[in-house]
Amino acid sequence: MVKGYIHSHESFGTVDGPGIRYVVFTQGCPLRCKYCHNCDTWKREDSKSVETPEETFLEICRYKNYIKKGGVTVTGGDPLTQPEYVTELLKLCKKEGIHTAIDTSGFLFNDKTKEAIDYADLILLDIKSIDPAQYKELTGVELAPTLEFAEYLKKIGKPMWVRHVVVPGITDNDELLGKLADYLVHFDNLEKVEVLPYHSLGEYKWQKMGMDYPLKGVEQLSAERWENAKNIFKSRGLTVR
Ligand code: SF4
Repeated sequence: MVKGYIHSHESFGTVDGPGIRYVVFTQGCPLRCKYCHNCDTWKREDSKSVETPEETFLEICRYKNYIKKGGVTVTGGDPLTQPEYVTELLKLCKKEGIHTAIDTSGFLFNDKTKEAIDYADLILLDIKSIDPAQYKELTGVELAPTLEFAEYLKKIGKPMWVRHVVVPGITDNDELLGKLADYLVHFDNLEKVEVLPYHSLGEYKWQKMGMDYPLKGVEQLSAERWENAKNIFKSRGLTVR
């Protein structure tokens, strides 16, 4: 029987895809982003509940009226660490005409994750950096699988939003932002770019888990630098949120 390792549920999410959404936070992530604000989702064995797709779906149905103009988003962690669970859950949602989205780093790209993608109306793809060395330094893994994942989404015409966190002193770099923008211009399946300002609100979770926060002392992104980053993407004709 397919089971999902779950961190938590949020019934009125407004930042993970269009409209009001039921958000399922899955447990488990292969990345170790230095600014992660969900480090408590990294290890599957720390899950708060284990549930079948049917059980999750029953819970979602309680909110069906509220998410009529939104939908369901699975995030994490990285939901594609559990592709069978995501596939079955999204299948159930699709049968009921509920809009579905997956929020992922795109690091896990294989036949099983491809099947999960088939049942998603939208992919929220987090590209942490366009520079391979910086990506590795920031996340602990290689950039190449994420770019391969993005190319696949383009090939199958899957609607995609790209998310990018702008971190002072790291990704807040005009040259790299321009490089990412230039790369994204060629994606005709790209609906928008979400340029997210770095903040350290997740730092307390690192402390709670007995870990040193790697970006200690890094200030949150200023409004001015955020505007600058957004303008770089807009200057390439991209839609920016
Ligand atoms: S991909 Fe997301 S959940 Fe995983 S480490 Fe990075 S920020 Fe955290």
